[in-house]
Amino acid sequence: MLEIGTQSHPNPHPDAIFLLLYKGNVLISQNEQTPGKETFQHSLYDFQPEPGTNAVFCGQWQEQDLFVCILNKVPKGFAEIELRELLFNQDEANYLLISRARQLATWDKDHQFCSRCSTPLKNKHDKEHTKICPKCHHRSYPRISPCIIVSIRKGDSILLARGTLSPPGRFSNIAGFVEAGETLEQAVAREVEEEVGIKVKNVRYHSSQPWSFPHQLMTGFLAEYDSGEITPAPGEIEEADWYPINDLPQIPSAATISGQIILDHLDLIKSEREIAE
Ligand SMILES: [Zn+2]
Repeated sequence: MLEIGTQSHPNPHPDAIFLLLYKGNVLISQNEQTPGKETFQHSLYDFQPEPGTNAVFCGQWQEQDLFVCILNKVPKGFAEIELRELLFNQDEANYLLISRARQLATWDKDHQFCSRCSTPLKNKHDKEHTKICPKCHHRSYPRISPCIIVSIRKGDSILLARGTLSPPGRFSNIAGFVEAGETLEQAVAREVEEEVGIKVKNVRYHSSQPWSFPHQLMTGFLAEYDSGEITPAPGEIEEADWYPINDLPQIPSAATISGQIILDHLDLIKSEREIAE
């Protein structure tokens, strides 16, 4: 498990371990490749960057300082694997580690200059993930974008939708970014109405999951149908409908919060049925 802590940030050193990224993909040691079962942990011990390679401190992993590096070429003996692919092969602790590393690396890459006065930001703060502009003192933090994702039920059915960019047969929940000044609950109500034209009630928080594509924090909710007819938003939602829980299309993996809120809704509906019988 990664310990984030509040310790000072060390600089990369020979005893440190490194999680490697290349163009947003994770690099794993080829010794560790087993198709469909890739893990990244052993890769951490197989690599030392050249002096001067830019690295961001992530925290401590098994009592060693862990850094993330974005490399501009794939080192010998390593291969790329997509973050989404890795997500389905990891336990949650490992996914959270990769997620954090990728978000910190993205922050470092995207904040090379002050966004207010364009002075180069060469140094990171030695205790927290902040870059302070040497000229105007503006602070740049890792960007985190809150999003909502909601599973909606109507009796023994749940709503599933397919976005215009999703392949046929791949359904999911309604999701979207929280807007400035909005509560999470307001974002749920607005996104549902915008995307499928219905109103929901009894909106309840479920859980959250960082979603590093590239810096979302997904907050999951369960809700109940209140009123209206399903009307998919043109250009956004290709199709949406109520699906009885015993006749569902392909749903997202249980490794994702999208899959988890659907599965918990199914359990809830099934347990209500058992009580009724
Ligand atoms: Zn500045």
